[in-house]
Amino acid sequence: MYNSLLLIMFAASVLAFIYLSFFKAPYGRHYQNEKKWGASLPNRLGWIIMESPSVLFFLWVYSQGQNALTLWPLLLLFLWQFHYIYRSYIFPFKLSNAHKRMPVIIIASSILFNCFNSYLNAKWLSDIGQYSTNTVTIVTFTLGCLLFFTGFYIHYRSDDILIHLRDDGSQGYKIPNGFLFEYVSSPNYLGELITWIGFYVASHSPAALLFVGFTLANLLPRSLSHLKWYQNKFPDFPRNRKALIPFVI
Ligand code: NDP
Repeated sequence: MYNSLLLIMFAASVLAFIYLSFFKAPYGRHYQNEKKWGASLPNRLGWIIMESPSVLFFLWVYSQGQNALTLWPLLLLFLWQFHYIYRSYIFPFKLSNAHKRMPVIIIASSILFNCFNSYLNAKWLSDIGQYSTNTVTIVTFTLGCLLFFTGFYIHYRSDDILIHLRDDGSQGYKIPNGFLFEYVSSPNYLGELITWIGFYVASHSPAALLFVGFTLANLLPRSLSHLKWYQNKFPDFPRNRKALIPFVI
């Protein structure tokens, strides 16, 4: 059953990539025609509801595993929860767009994805994966942690810069500058991607590798549409900026 779920997840990431290459996920700046997308919830509540399964459901699945109380799975659990506690319960309260709404269809599809993803990753860490203390585990875990926290820092700092663009009380959009915004228009997505590559290196789990693929399938098309959107909206938007990967894409 686990392998079948991995296959379903792989197929879903390919479909998501194809869909998102043609259509923009309707939240944030790409959520304009509110009637078209049906019922909606306040943005902040939407983030909390849709990301919570990655904290709570993950923890429950993890706790059922036979290796739940052993060292390496516990360390990897810490990494996962570090990111998702931020994403579910801290990031939503930093947002400067509390008046905005998020369509229920986005929330529902994210819950579905987060449940699948949490199950696959938690089940691997505490039940299926075999971790023993040897040089390979120590080296890959250390390298993975370095990438994970570098990615976290990049996306945390980038989100912070974006959110503070509205400190003057305005609700519109401005050109972000500084830090990695000098190179790409969505360094927050780049940081997120590096975070999950780090988690894969630390855990060498097939579920984590699939999650990297899904994150890329989701964030690459979105970063490209963000860049196009900036170029159309701001004639003075710096022409040398890429979308996601400095000097490349
Ligand atoms: P965005 O970059 O679109 O927006 C982040 C926040 O900054 C929003 O509050 C947005 O407001 C505001 N903002 C963005 N650009 C500007 C600007 N130019 N001027 C003023 N305010 C701005 O990110 P997302 O909302 O798509 O994602 C948020 C976080 O979630 C990111 O860190 C991302 O990495 C993560 N994420 C991860 C995914 C994954 O697959 N792992 C999938 C999706 C998101 P507004 O909402 O009004 O546009």
